Amino acid sequence: MSYIIDPAPQVTLPVVGESAKFPVNNIYCVGRNYADHAIEMGGDPNREAPFFFMKPAFAVSSNGVEMAYPAHSNDVHHEVELVVALASGGVNISVEKAMELVFGYGVGVDMTRRDQQGEAKEKRRPWEAGKTFYQAAPCSDLISIAATGELNSGDIALSINGEVRQQGDVSQMIWKVAEVISRLSELFYLQAGDLIFTGTPAGVGPVAKGDQIVASVAGLPALSFKVSE
Ligand code: MN
Repeated sequence: MSYIIDPAPQVTLPVVGESAKFPVNNIYCVGRNYADHAIEMGGDPNREAPFFFMKPAFAVSSNGVEMAYPAHSNDVHHEVELVVALASGGVNISVEKAMELVFGYGVGVDMTRRDQQGEAKEKRRPWEAGKTFYQAAPCSDLISIAATGELNSGDIALSINGEVRQQGDVSQMIWKVAEVISRLSELFYLQAGDLIFTGTPAGVGPVAKGDQIVASVAGLPALSFKVSE
């Protein structure tokens, strides 16, 4: 195989205990998958089901990498999320078979230009300007599900400069991980290397230049990064 131009470099994430890296493919995100966050965003979790959007692989940044504050926003928000990494893909995967696709887990932050997203909602436009930018998807090192077992509960939290801003429990997810994978596979062609950001608990809010962010899910490697001055 030869290419007419150089292909983009493969985006990767480190894996705990391995020298080999995880190759990142597509990034799917779940909107409003925790009832208390749906309510704080003006939704009604009893009337509106969770939904999906995407980020590109180039939005991923690794643990410890400083995040540049993106242009065209004065209101960049944090959303801590359990991240699921897929070892294989497919279509129309049943809930019962869904966990067989999972390589492992990580902790991510769905960084959001909330002002851009708000304008998109108001004008009934797509969300890319709100959800997609360089370093919009910081993610911890990944850990194999063989090492953790299935993760259906546990503390999920985010702090800024040592102060807790978001705290919830993975068990509060409206669609569980297996249900998310199954539904995604009905809509899209899931592939090995895909990441799924599974939604955020309540407490989202702005980050400022110079902030030190720590995001965690019990039993997983933490994610720590600074927002550049
Ligand atoms: Mn989110």
